[in-house]
Amino acid sequence: MRSSLKLFTWFGIPVHLHWTFGLIFVYALWIGYSNHLDVTGTLWLMGFFIALFACVLLHEYGHSLTARKYGVETKDIILTPIGGIARLERMPEKPVQEFLVAIAGPMVNVVIAIVLFGVSMLIFQGERWELFKWFLQDQLLFSGGEDSGEILEESGVSMSGILFYLPVLVATNIGLVVFNLIPAFPMDGGRIFRSLLAMRIGRVKATRAASLVGQVIAVIFIAVGLFNWQKASTLTLIGFFVFVTARTENSMVKLEDILRRFKARDLLRRNFTRLTENDWMQTPIEMLQHGLERNFLVFDMSDKLVRALEEEDILAALKKRDFSAEIARYVQRVEWVNTDESLQYVYHLLRQRGYSIIAVVEEGNLVGVIDEAGFQHFMRMKSVKV
Ligand SMILES: [Zn+2]
Repeated sequence: MRSSLKLFTWFGIPVHLHWTFGLIFVYALWIGYSNHLDVTGTLWLMGFFIALFACVLLHEYGHSLTARKYGVETKDIILTPIGGIARLERMPEKPVQEFLVAIAGPMVNVVIAIVLFGVSMLIFQGERWELFKWFLQDQLLFSGGEDSGEILEESGVSMSGILFYLPVLVATNIGLVVFNLIPAFPMDGGRIFRSLLAMRIGRVKATRAASLVGQVIAVIFIAVGLFNWQKASTLTLIGFFVFVTARTENSMVKLEDILRRFKARDLLRRNFTRLTENDWMQTPIEMLQHGLERNFLVFDMSDKLVRALEEEDILAALKKRDFSAEIARYVQRVEWVNTDESLQYVYHLLRQRGYSIIAVVEEGNLVGVIDEAGFQHFMRMKSVKV
């Protein structure tokens, strides 16, 4: 990841800091400046932000280490100003497992809040304990504002001390739990919601419902963020993120479902043109201009399948007006699959390995081809019915 800085690797998972994270420190300086904080106060504020992101990081480790129990590894964890992202290789598909992976994150913050509260009980006594409770309540109810400013002054507690920051940290952890549990897919609450639904109505329908709820909540987030720009502008950002990911996740799950249900035989095309490797490029160029086929299989003199000729290469030849070149000069490697090969593997060959055409064989005989256009057509037909 170019746009991020690698901090360290813990439990075998690399932790990255997104470059926009620098904004947090700019923001901290700005808060410090507008609250007339001195150097010590500003350092306390920075320390608070670091502690806050340590909590976010532990939250992500909650997801990652639970996923590891189900054999799912984490590529990395990225910290951004609006939160952390644990990039899991995939989500476990069993609803119970997804439920546990999703809820593990917020549970970490519950534990942190309880531990910090316990520590506060030990270190603050008498009046300081009363103040702690008051600040915590104040933070939780978002009452903030003039009132707390006054109390702060009267009590003689400055914004540079543990008595000010511990309650804020406890409240923020509780806030993280509540916020993450909002059922806006793909936030944790949305995943929990999807997994619970999936136990009843199956993963595809559950995802569609969760994605829809997620998009509605995302729109609300965006609106609330826009109308309270000064206090909640990040909510708009999160809203956009939720909206886009909810849609993407829905189409991904739909795609995965189709891929799982069909085999290569379901979309192979039995009629296809056979080219010979020592024929001229003139032939495929004309076929590309006048026919429907875009990619071809190429055979040798003894009619054995040897290579593939892809649209891109035919266009390259056309550009150079290389009509009389032998087809052999433009061919690519060819890949075979069996008729009972899963569509997941076919998808992998087309989209990840970049093959434009795949030969399909049955009991050693070539029976047809699958190409990108046919694949897209098939997916369109199937997703209409889903
Ligand atoms: Zn989470």
